Amino acid sequence: MGYISVAIDGPSGAGKSTVARAAAARLGYVYVDTGAMYRAIGLAVCRRGISGEDAAGIAAALPEIEIRLAYQDGAQRVLLNDEDVSDAIRTPEIAHYASKVSAVPEVRQFLLDVQRDMAKKGNILMDGRDIGTVILPDAPVKIFLTASAETRAERRYLELAEKGQQVTRESVLHDIVERDRQDMTRAVAPLRQAEDAVLLDTSEMTLEESIDAVLQIIRKKTEDQTK
Ligand code: C5P
Repeated sequence: MGYISVAIDGPSGAGKSTVARAAAARLGYVYVDTGAMYRAIGLAVCRRGISGEDAAGIAAALPEIEIRLAYQDGAQRVLLNDEDVSDAIRTPEIAHYASKVSAVPEVRQFLLDVQRDMAKKGNILMDGRDIGTVILPDAPVKIFLTASAETRAERRYLELAEKGQQVTRESVLHDIVERDRQDMTRAVAPLRQAEDAVLLDTSEMTLEESIDAVLQIIRKKTEDQTK
């Protein structure tokens, strides 16, 4: 039997990564956070002083960029040319850059190959924006995880505030709405629900309930598969 791939897509701050990481750990699947890969490219571009609007400049920088995911004690670490940038990529500035670089077709092609390769090596649970629609269109389990913009902004605000970052609720909501707009309206691989994805709205759910709901969908779909 081949390996099982679970695709989880959805907008920023829907709790995708927390829910996906926990669900993967319970299933013994490798968790792949594709947003972290776009963020690492965003960081590389930002450090080179290239503007987020300069698509040609971003594409030209790609040959100098190597992104790898490594797993330490079960946690995913992101390596940019062998430097561990897992923490450096978690800032609003780099999130903004990630959204910009992710609209560049060469960047998407660059990561498409890396991501598809990962799905060939074992059971994986991959989260992102275009996993069910573009990267793994044949994944047997697809989930579109979302929540209202206000709920997502509140969760992201608490997460950033806990890390000691100086942000306001208003600025976080503004960033989320803006990123949604960019992600949904870009020409290449825009954020959208795959036709065969199960929609899960977690606005009214706790984290535990969201994880359970995801696990239930995965179990049901994989049981259907083996019937
Ligand atoms: O999920 P996260 O917030 O870390 O993603 C950062 C940015 O990377 C998103 O705003 C989106 O523009 C981009 N992204 C993407 N496709 C993916 C994952 C992330 O375009 N599969």
